[in-house]
Amino acid sequence: MSGFVFSEKPIRIDRGEGVYLYDTNGTEYLDFGASYACTPVGHCHPEVVDAATGQLEELFYVQASYPHAARTALYEQLARVAPVDIDNVWLCNSGTEANEAALKFARHATGRSKIVATTQAFHGRTMGSLAATWKDEYKEGFGPLADGVEFVEYGDSEAMAAAVDDETAAVIIEPLQGEGGINPVSKKYLQSVRVETATAGAALILDEIQTGLGRTGELWAADKYDVVPDILTTAKGLASGLPLGATLCRDWIAEDAGNHGSTFSGGPVVSAAAGATLEVIEREGLPAHAADVGAYLREETEARLGDEIREVRGHGLMIGIEVKRGSNRLLRDLALEHGILALPAGRTVLRLLPPLTVEREHADEVVDALEAVLT
Ligand SMILES: *Cc1c(COP(=O)(O)O)cnc(C)c1O
Repeated sequence: MSGFVFSEKPIRIDRGEGVYLYDTNGTEYLDFGASYACTPVGHCHPEVVDAATGQLEELFYVQASYPHAARTALYEQLARVAPVDIDNVWLCNSGTEANEAALKFARHATGRSKIVATTQAFHGRTMGSLAATWKDEYKEGFGPLADGVEFVEYGDSEAMAAAVDDETAAVIIEPLQGEGGINPVSKKYLQSVRVETATAGAALILDEIQTGLGRTGELWAADKYDVVPDILTTAKGLASGLPLGATLCRDWIAEDAGNHGSTFSGGPVVSAAAGATLEVIEREGLPAHAADVGAYLREETEARLGDEIREVRGHGLMIGIEVKRGSNRLLRDLALEHGILALPAGRTVLRLLPPLTVEREHADEVVDALEAVLT
């Protein structure tokens, strides 16, 4: 079988509304993958649609050096919702670019080159971000990648302390690993990484591309763990699926970030879509809602399927269910027999990253379907 979950029976999606996707036959799917966390407020949210289409009709694009209302408003909105002191914003077009910028800014601002990353990390697929990504299968045949990346065991504070020194430009880390298998770490660990980087004069880069925007039950995982990084990256659902990434940083980074740029940086349409997305997330209290529904889903999964699975992990609506066999067939059966879309994370983990607007009844549907396919 190929690496594609749906290789045998392709599902052709042509419409989305709220927590549902519809295929070309009109079959409804409950979307618990959200195409890798890209629709925090649900598919085709009317306010996001209005903001983007309204902007399309006014102006598709203008270069970033001309201030534009939608972009300026987004700068202000991001600066306001970001953890305290992280109020400088750089906009780009994807997660990997946001991390690429973070690594470049950190090197420039510190005048150092060493980067410390962690085992199982995923930071993207361009040369710099890929160099800080753990799995060899993503790197094979593409080397030499960016030099100077050292990997330490994720969650091991002693290894981190030993690796971070006065040659370290940055530590880049996910506060809860996504692609690597939904691997949580403790608050104590992340706070120790904060202390080590501050002591060494290195930048702490929190990659919140998957954890951010309310997914873990707080707007940022940084808030959840009381860790204020020097740089925070976000992307994925930021503009509800239009291509947008952001690198948010403190003054000491922004003031000495070096020469960087991108033609499309914060175009009006993506900026308008992102503004509306953030507004809905805040106004509807979606982080707290994600915390509630996510806790319910994890408890139900444990209570009803405890014997059929190895473990359920995660925070809020970023959930990994470690199963006792390969996940590909399970994912296919969930989709084709039960109309539920989910994602893998490695070979044996089912990954759930639904829109933050799902309700407990949707969680029940997922647990029912999991019970049917696992037993
Ligand atoms: C998806 C992801 C990226 C890469 O984002 P792209 O938009 O695919 O480039 C980086 N880091 C994390 C944690 C991610 O989940």
